[in-house]
Amino acid sequence: MTSASEYTVINPATEEPVRTVPEASAEEADAAIARARAAQRAWREVAPGDRAALLRAFAAAVEAHAGELADLEVANSGHPVTAAAWEAGQVRDVLQYYAAAPERLCGRQIPVAGGLDVTFAEPIGVVGLIVPWNFPMPILSWGMAPALAAGNAVVAKPAEMTPLTALRIAEIAAEAGLPEGVLQVLPGKGSVVGQRLVDHPDVGKIVFTGSTEVGQQIMAGCARHIKRLTLELGGKSANIVFADADLEKAAATAPYAVFDNAGQDCCARSRILVQRRAFDRFMELFEPAVKGVRVGDPRSERTEMGPLISAAHRAHVQSYVPDGAPVAFRGSAPSGPGYWFPPTVLAPVSFDAPAYREEIFGPVVTVTPFEDEAEAIEIANDTPYGLSGSIWTRDVGRAIRVARAVETGNLSVNSHSSVRYWTPFGGFKKSGLGRELGPDALDAFTETKNVFISTQD
Ligand code: NAP
Ligand code: MG
Repeated sequence: MTSASEYTVINPATEEPVRTVPEASAEEADAAIARARAAQRAWREVAPGDRAALLRAFAAAVEAHAGELADLEVANSGHPVTAAAWEAGQVRDVLQYYAAAPERLCGRQIPVAGGLDVTFAEPIGVVGLIVPWNFPMPILSWGMAPALAAGNAVVAKPAEMTPLTALRIAEIAAEAGLPEGVLQVLPGKGSVVGQRLVDHPDVGKIVFTGSTEVGQQIMAGCARHIKRLTLELGGKSANIVFADADLEKAAATAPYAVFDNAGQDCCARSRILVQRRAFDRFMELFEPAVKGVRVGDPRSERTEMGPLISAAHRAHVQSYVPDGAPVAFRGSAPSGPGYWFPPTVLAPVSFDAPAYREEIFGPVVTVTPFEDEAEAIEIANDTPYGLSGSIWTRDVGRAIRVARAVETGNLSVNSHSSVRYWTPFGGFKKSGLGRELGPDALDAFTETKNVFISTQD
């Protein structure tokens, strides 16, 4: 079958073409779903210990190719090479973690009269993964590993702009012995391949990570089939700094909490809230920290921040910093080719400014003062999103009160912890639906079946 079209992957740090990738058509998506369906029937019958061994072999093969995968991501996404190496390591770790699941997918035995009642965690069938461009490797792995461990087949659609590592990971899986058809990566357009995964009746579950806007359309599409769905969507998270905090540490770490991955991170702490009596001191400390972020060639081990993903995305980010915007200070960015954008701090900003309200998904942060704990909580929660956040204070009681009051799925106190694969991850409100990772992720890839067996003669 011929492909509908081709896509030229561009290196965002150089604007040069990297490779051309064929894009799947809706018919090719249908064929992949049919292959997945057939493969899944055999995969679910693979003995738990053998399924676990195959996933461990897959993890080991990813480890063996980690450097190659990292380099591919540097070229495709412009991620600094140290970050890309961490991302490849995340794929290995998530596979290893869920490789322990097949033999532990226990049901329950529930006391009943006249028989035996047991539950089974049955695979759903074919799982469609729709992956965004900001973290192509980790986000693929978060859906792929538990889905496979639970006995599902996976059809993954990487973002059109960033298909290279996902394609390579599928090859690595095959080399590691994963049966054909169990994991397929299908590059293509969201509106074609992604839409087909949502619409096709033989796909039992969608895991979507991306914008809230597209997530809403996908949820509506899944409703037609009562299709299972996990959504990981946008964020506008708060980094709340109280006056009693270690201000030096809070200011030194705040840039990385929002400018990592050039701000293209759903967990970016893109609204810094600082208690008014510490505001001036915080800004004094924050300025050199922002100016110290090393922005440049992503191939260098020293680089902390690379370019944005595309020219169109850079124009979108720029629209939040128009002429006359209240820029307090900025970091640096290379000139010349590449979709560069300097770390940018906006203050003061009004509560109705688009830069304050909307997810920018670039290296732009607002800094806003607050009076007291109650106001900090109110401001932090005044957003339709609820994905992550940080709280800086030396008062343990306050840390716990605020952590309980902020309506968000993932919080860190006196740190900006990134995602840990063994703890649950997901959003409140318009940041998502369901949770990924952690000990309970298998629940999202299985159906509970209850069986009563009569013991009567
Ligand atoms: P996006 O535009 O929503 O796209 C995400 C994925 O959906 C891409 O693979 C895209 O394909 C596909 N898609 C687009 N339209 C579709 C349709 N009608 N049907 C099915 N699939 C469709 O998001 P993005 O710009 O790539 O990513 C940035 C967003 O993701 C941000 O809002 C960010 O916060 C969010 N995000 C959330 C998390 C989280 O865990 N909560 C993590 C990372 C990112 P194409 O590539 O062809 O457009
Ligand atoms: Mg998009």
